[in-house]
Amino acid sequence: MKQTTIPRRDPTDHDVQIEILFCGVCHSDLHTVRDEWKAFMPTTYPCVPGHEIVGRVTKVGSAVKKFKPGDLAAVGCLVDSDGTCDECKAGLEQFCVNATYTYNAPDKHLGGVTYGGYSDSVVVSDRFVLRVPENLDLAGAAPLLCAGITTYSPMRHWCVSKGKKVGVVGLGGLGHMAVKFAHGLGAHTVVFTTSPHKKDDAMRLGADEVVVSKNSNEMEKHTGSFDFILDAVSADHDINAYLMLLRRDGNLTLVGAPEKPLPVAAFPLIIGRRSLSGSPIGGIPETQEMLDFCGQHNITADVEVIPIQKINEAYDRLLKSDVKYRFSIDMASLKSA
Ligand code: NAP
Ligand code: ZN
Repeated sequence: MKQTTIPRRDPTDHDVQIEILFCGVCHSDLHTVRDEWKAFMPTTYPCVPGHEIVGRVTKVGSAVKKFKPGDLAAVGCLVDSDGTCDECKAGLEQFCVNATYTYNAPDKHLGGVTYGGYSDSVVVSDRFVLRVPENLDLAGAAPLLCAGITTYSPMRHWCVSKGKKVGVVGLGGLGHMAVKFAHGLGAHTVVFTTSPHKKDDAMRLGADEVVVSKNSNEMEKHTGSFDFILDAVSADHDINAYLMLLRRDGNLTLVGAPEKPLPVAAFPLIIGRRSLSGSPIGGIPETQEMLDFCGQHNITADVEVIPIQKINEAYDRLLKSDVKYRFSIDMASLKSA
């Protein structure tokens, strides 16, 4: 990645212009930059990633009521949708077939593709701008916009609550948020990690137990016991081993989106009537609910703040799981570039 200049539209009546203060670094940014999802969403270059945006409003259109210059504001993975379909009416904009992703999606205003948050400002329709609770640290709040909502939404959907046993696979950016939410929602939370050195952190983040997944004895002790498992792994791994850990009617939801398909054996699903599903980000009302939940419980991501000049190095480290647990770019660094 290197620096360039991109256009942003002048705010229309319903737009909010935001000066970006922090932007989280999601593994999806890395998949996209390296065109690893070419089978489903090929990358158009130049590509400006970033969909975990927190900043301050600098200008609003004449019809904008919710925001004024100076307010804190946030933008996640979506910047537009048709607003008229059943999904949009239900506040489930993530399922709208005409939804516009924050980057690498056709830009209805300027043509070309949308450009994301690794930049100093963005202009977004007010329907897709979120309020940030004032008590939250802004560098740590940015990752809530993707890592936060992507883990919160399936947990709400699958009724994670007190009395449930919940597994989180992969203690990365998404995984560490999942642990905070599962714990915050009262579930008995078990982390599965390939990194033994993350054990103490997992417990500190709210896990009740930690399993090093390479140890098959440790894995087998949990056979048939989970109500719900959230898989947030970014690379190839054996999901059948996790399906076997679900109890009757238990569910494993994939949020991780590895480049290559994951083979699924029939028997782990058949035995125990288990189910396997996926979940994409979340809708705007639920994203605001999640941010408010985080405000009430003082939940943010554990971040390593970096200047934009360290972004290529950060991607290399992300691939080695060498980040605790999310990089958050201090966008002021772009001005000194
Ligand atoms: P991340 O910070 O890199 O975390 C991924 C974690 O997966 C690592 O920390 C590591 O955890 C584990 N892992 C990595 N390589 C592995 C391997 N070969 N075998 C087993 N485990 C491995 O990434 P992230 O930002 O949390 O994103 C995770 C995935 O979710 C990515 O594929 C991303 O694109 C996807 N995603 C999906 C959505 C959605 O809407 N569904 C939204 C955002 C992101 P341990 O060290 O603990 O093993
Ligand atoms: Zn993301």
